[in-house]
Amino acid sequence: MAALTQIIQPQLGIFTNIGSAHDEHFEDTRAKIEEKCKLFQSAKYLIYRKDQTQVGQYLEENFDPSVLISWSDKAGADYILSVKRHNNGSKIYLIGKDFQTYTFLTSFRDQASLENIRHVITAALSLGMKPEIIQQGLKLLHAVDMRLTLKSGSKGCKLIDDSYNNDLAGLELALEFMSQQITASGRKILILSEMQQEGKEEVVFQKIAWLLKHYSIDLFVGVGKGFADFKHLFPAESDFYESTDMILRNLEALSLSNDLVLIKGARAYGFERVVQKLEALAHETILEINLNSLRHNFIHYRQKIKPGTKIMVMVKAFAYGGGAAEIANYLQEIGADYLSVAYTDEGVFLRNNGITLPIMVMNPGSYHLELLQEHALEPVVYNLNQLKSLSNAMDSNSGLLSVHLELDTGMRRLGMSDQELDEAISILQQCSNLKVAGIFTHLAGADEAVHKDFTLSQISSFESSSNRIIQETGCKPIRHCLNSAGIIRYPEFAFDMVRLGIGLYGIEVNQLEQDKLQPAMTLKTVVSQVRTLQKGETIGYGRKGEMKNDGEVATLAIGYADGYDRRFSNGKATVLIKGQMAPIIGNVCMDMCMADVTGLNVFEGDEAILFGARPSIMDLAAKIETIPYELLTGIGPRVKRQYILD
Ligand SMILES: *Cc1c(COP(=O)(O)O)cnc(C)c1O
Repeated sequence: MAALTQIIQPQLGIFTNIGSAHDEHFEDTRAKIEEKCKLFQSAKYLIYRKDQTQVGQYLEENFDPSVLISWSDKAGADYILSVKRHNNGSKIYLIGKDFQTYTFLTSFRDQASLENIRHVITAALSLGMKPEIIQQGLKLLHAVDMRLTLKSGSKGCKLIDDSYNNDLAGLELALEFMSQQITASGRKILILSEMQQEGKEEVVFQKIAWLLKHYSIDLFVGVGKGFADFKHLFPAESDFYESTDMILRNLEALSLSNDLVLIKGARAYGFERVVQKLEALAHETILEINLNSLRHNFIHYRQKIKPGTKIMVMVKAFAYGGGAAEIANYLQEIGADYLSVAYTDEGVFLRNNGITLPIMVMNPGSYHLELLQEHALEPVVYNLNQLKSLSNAMDSNSGLLSVHLELDTGMRRLGMSDQELDEAISILQQCSNLKVAGIFTHLAGADEAVHKDFTLSQISSFESSSNRIIQETGCKPIRHCLNSAGIIRYPEFAFDMVRLGIGLYGIEVNQLEQDKLQPAMTLKTVVSQVRTLQKGETIGYGRKGEMKNDGEVATLAIGYADGYDRRFSNGKATVLIKGQMAPIIGNVCMDMCMADVTGLNVFEGDEAILFGARPSIMDLAAKIETIPYELLTGIGPRVKRQYILD
């Protein structure tokens, strides 16, 4: 911050919020506030929300009162700005320092926006702007979908949809995101509109051309009249169109196939139409994976264990339904050390998608030595027979094979028993080209306090058996035994590595630290039809649903074939529509289900959330007596996966 302060030298500061981001680098919240405040050393105005008490206290102790300007819902601040929400927006009531009052109107209803707006009002008032002028500006604010989204396109393409704004800094960010995606065979294509905010000077176009080169874009497509004078700055094979309509008519000319396409346009260009046309034809049921939340959760688990402890992430079963290649790729970026899959073909799939992290294969079946070696996959050896046949095969193999030994300490699933250890050790002593990269065990009851004694005995038997193997064979393995639940309950037994699974998606199966995680997966669909029904009418197969009163029923484009379990039928589950919970009515069908949306003012095309922040996967699973794992991994291949980065 000290370095930034020198560059920016801000005269007006707004201390918006203190959240949990970057917590891992600070002793406590106060230390983080102190660091942030370095930015405001020479500010003439420093605006803050009084009821953020930690921030308020720090500022009041450390800054000259003449620069501080506070606002709050309640009395005691310079500006009292209270909020009343109504159906289509909110009213913000101001009582100012000199008891001037004013009512602002805004179309926003969400917490974060209302907080931001009140910061803005306070700043504008402090600078002497009149409430009427501020109100005029507020009216022009509207919500924008500010998220970079990775989608699947038709003809094997991947699309990066960034069609909400366009400036040079944003372009660079989007190109950076693009460069982190894996392109197996296709081209990297950028479809870019003119940048209205940046103006039409030559330097802007030069910078764009430089970025193209820097990020090795294979094909550039410029949209807007402004490009006309600067075509010479761009590679000769570039395409230019005067308007969005023109490119829409000529999309065929791009001959897209397996390409990675970044679509970035200023709002006015309406590039969402380009995205729509390039998107894979699929119904509108989407599993949305929020990569920011994934990262947040990853960091939370990393903070629980000693620095230097490695993290293996379990990306078996298509990464718990989230999409193995994309999630593994992101994990590679944020610093995971190891990956693990259940079967060899899952590992091969990751390698074919450019994943370079070490990969452990839990259940390799009969060993395809060549396949494993060719793809640098590290199989688990979980019994003596396997170890024997593997060491025999390695006798006539010139290469080296890294393996992980699984010890059964009580799970009774896979793993070597204590009785097998002697023989295993003597085989390992003789086979020099088998490298024991890891030794691990799996806990049977890490998620429940009642199993504590059992778990501790598993861990202690793991410790002594693995010690023995290490001493007698001289190997230097990574030792690991904790799954997500174990990391929370027994972080002191992390050994050299932990195996993170469900926690990455924001599900804390112990329910001890659920509030510290963010739900990373949201399953959503759209309303296909809404109809008005009368009391007594029945709905769906077997006429199981019945209207208790007159009302409306919405048909949703998701069914049990998509992984929306049939046991959710007849009110077992509710879905979130228009911010309200609507119960499922009647039986869930294969491709569709119905929800009672009486009084919710629902229309065709409205979004319905099956799970996410609300309803939570945990609650939903409990309703049908299963576990979140089953719900996640059951989401069908027909459901599009989309990855968003806020
Ligand atoms: C699936 C699995 C994990 C991860 O379990 P979570 O409960 O999802 O954290 C860890 N270790 C092994 C051996 C597994 O099979």
